[in-house]
Formats: sequence, structure tokens, C-alpha cells
Amino acid sequence: MRKVIVIGAGASGMAAAIAAAGRGASVTVLEGNEKPGKKLLLTGSGRCNLSNLKQGDDCYRGADPLFAKRVLERFTPQDAIRFFRSIGLLTCDRDGYVYPVTGQASSVLDVLLLELSRRKVKMKYREKVRSVSKEGAEFLVKTDGWTYRADAVVLAAGSMAVPSTGSDGSGYDIARMCGHRIVPPMPALVPLTVREQAFSRQLSGLRMRAAISLHCTDRGAQAAVIRRESGELQWTDYGISGIAVFQLSRYAVQCLEQGGRVSAKIDLLPDHSEEELLEHLRLRSLAGTAAQMLVGILPAKAVHPLLQAAGISPQTAAASLAKADLDSLAARIKRLALSITGSRSFDQAQSCQGGVDCSFVDPETMESRLVPGLYFSGEILDVDGACGGYNLQWAWASGHAAGSAAGAGGQERTD
Ligand SMILES: Cc1cc2nc3c(=O)[nH]c(=O)nc-3n(C[C@H](O)[C@H](O)[C@H](O)COP(=O)(O)OP(=O)(O)OC[C@H]3O[C@@H](n4cnc5c(N)ncnc54)[C@H](O)[C@@H]3O)c2cc1C
Repeated sequence: MRKVIVIGAGASGMAAAIAAAGRGASVTVLEGNEKPGKKLLLTGSGRCNLSNLKQGDDCYRGADPLFAKRVLERFTPQDAIRFFRSIGLLTCDRDGYVYPVTGQASSVLDVLLLELSRRKVKMKYREKVRSVSKEGAEFLVKTDGWTYRADAVVLAAGSMAVPSTGSDGSGYDIARMCGHRIVPPMPALVPLTVREQAFSRQLSGLRMRAAISLHCTDRGAQAAVIRRESGELQWTDYGISGIAVFQLSRYAVQCLEQGGRVSAKIDLLPDHSEEELLEHLRLRSLAGTAAQMLVGILPAKAVHPLLQAAGISPQTAAASLAKADLDSLAARIKRLALSITGSRSFDQAQSCQGGVDCSFVDPETMESRLVPGLYFSGEILDVDGACGGYNLQWAWASGHAAGSAAGAGGQERTD
């Protein structure tokens, strides 16, 4: 019987193990942690946004976006939903975002574990893999206490995002040992730090709807808007967070890494034009104070900091404000500029950009083009998805492809 070892009991490793066992292989999963799926349990704030029905070309990023596309075309969100139903989990669609009906990530982990057990997959915990090498056609997979032998290995050891979940980057070392190049890993889906922390600190904890455009000035001093995003903005002591910021973060991190300068322009009133806002301010400035003029436009916590940013004292009589004051205030509300200085660390990143260079991996089978019998799946690869179920969809799709091919041993293509 063909022996397959899967390294990592995360989302992708478990999907790969189920697929490999489904092809008749004898499968062992080696997991460094004392239990499986630590990161999976954190997903979607414990609710697990496991896929997304809206798939667009820009939902997956990496040096070769076509690589992810080819894998995902063969295991779609509908396939993921069917797969989960087949192993006992019903899902629900929330405007395209797919969740388990239970609203609990633990249900997703539980059905995966039931299926692994049903398929007689051996789960070994506290087995941190230190090296993978080949002896003839056979793989030697070494942990601290044992050397496992296998016909095929699926490396599904995750990335460096939230190392406390076990994905501590050791998978990259194993890939390097096998001759693979690693595109430098950097945080993605991560909060951003700003120069204007005296300002962000005053708003800290506030969540608001905003439209944000990210501007990057490269080394040649060429400025360009690299991305726009609307959605939730959350203010923190160090800068900005929230889903809209997460979606932009990988581009900011990349631009800064390449030596560019990054700024964000934030529209705090995205449903109203600057002209409408000015008209409103003119009407509201007939009576009361400057601060009272903004009641009903901005959350209370934002009123004083924005007035101060526009050089207006909150107690000033609104009627005494000049046109230039109102213009300056409207500009702060509609085009608030922040300098992005960096991002929070991997500890706070929901995913990782960079990883195993996909040009040496076959997107049909996820097999290494350098080491036959070695397969990759999940976040270890240089593929990162947008926020909203895309990274787990990638984990299931790539895990299914890798496990199917590893279990079948090159006898057949994956389905
Ligand atoms: C807080 C948070 C919320 C998220 N929410 C969502 C969401 O709602 N929707 C979504 O699509 N994505 C979400 N993500 C991203 C998603 O969780 C990951 O992309 C996905 O879990 C990656 O799966 P993986 O199997 O590739 O890696 P992981 O889940 O990281 O699994 C890798 C496993 O390999 C093990 N391992 C590592 N090295 C070794 C070794 N040397 N030997 C043995 N074992 C090893 C690790 O312990 C780990 O168990 C979220 C991420 C975070 C951090």
C-alpha cells in the first residue's frame, strides 16, 4: 500500500490527508502541536468563514496569480461546500461568505477529524518534522524521536502568520532543504502603523465605515494609487485596522519593503460628496459651536480630533468660522491623509504573502518539479488570498489536489 506522510494538521493538511486516504493510500499526519487545527479554530473570529462564492481574478495574489487560478478552477467553492456536506457539515451563505451553519469553527475541525478517523488516517501529535530527505525512491521524514518512511510527502506546514498556532516558518526550512526557493515571507491581512499616532490614539477603539485609497511613491518618486477599498475601519493606538485595512495591507507592506513611501487617504463620509458635506456644514454653522456642527456627521469620539486636525477649536462659535475653515474641515473628513510606516508583526497577521516559489510546483498535482513525490499545499506556497474565506478556500483546494495526487502516486490526475 502506498505510504503518504502529510506534514501539518492545519486546514490544508487535513484536506490533503482525507484526499490521499480516499485514493487508497495509508496516510500519517505529523503535527508539531499537541492538537490539530489550532489556527482553523481562530478563523472568522471563531465562526470560520470557510469559503466565498464570489471569486474574482484579484482575490488571490502572489508572484504568479495564474498558478492559484489553475488550482482553484478544479476545486471551486461549490466543491468545498459539497465536500463539507459529504463529511457531515452543512454550510450557509451570507452574501457569498460561506460559514458552517453552526456558526462554530470547532464544527469544521470536528467533521474533518471524524472523516480522518473514518478513513483510518494516523494522526501523530507533538511530532515536529525537522528534515525531509530521500533515500532512493523513499522519503525519510525525521522528527526529534523518529524517522518515518514514505512514498510521498505533502508539506502543509503553513506560513509564519501567528506562529503561536504552530505555523512558525519551519516548513520553509524543509522546503529549502529540498532545493526550493522561498519568496521572502511578509505579513498580509494585518493592521498598519501610521506616523500620526497622536491622532490615531485619540480615536482608538472606534470603528467606522470608510473608503480608503492607498498611495505608493516608489524610489523613482512616481506616486500612484495602488488600491482602493471600502468597509470597516478600526482606529488603534498605533494606527489603523479593520477589514478595509486588511485588504490593503499586503500592498502597503510590499511597497514599503521595496523602499517606497506609502500613504492612505481616508474618506470618513463615503456616502456623501465633499460638496454635500460643505453644504451641510454651511447650514449647521449658523448656530452653536464648531463641535456641535459635527454632531450627527461623525461619531462623538472623532469630533474633537478632526476639528483639531483642521486647526479649529471645538468651542469656537460655528458662525465665526471662515469659508477656509469649513473647506479645511471638509477636506479632513473626506481626504484624511495618513503616512503608513509599517505593519504589525506576524503575530497579528491573518495570512502571509510569499512562501514556496510556485514556479517549481505543478499546479495540476501540486508536486515539486525538483523532487518527485514531494507535494505542497496551503499557505506555505506563495499564494495569499483576500480577506473573506479566500485563504481557507485555497487551503481546501490545494490540499485536495496535493492529497489526491500524492495518494494516487502519479497514476492519475486529480479530479
Ligand atoms: C486569526 C485568523 C483568522 C482567520 N480567519 C480566516 C477566515 O475566516 N477565512 C479564511 O479563509 N481564512 C482565515 N484565516 C487564514 C487561514 O486560517 C489560513 O490561511 C489557513 O488556516 C492556512 O491553512 P494551512 O493548513 O496552510 O496552515 P496552518 O493552518 O497554519 O497549518 C499548518 C500546520 O502545520 C503545523 N506545522 C508547522 N511546521 C511543522 C513541522 N515542522 N512539523 C510538523 N507540523 C508542523 C502547524 O503546527 C500547523 O498545525 C485566518 C487566519 C487567522 C490567523
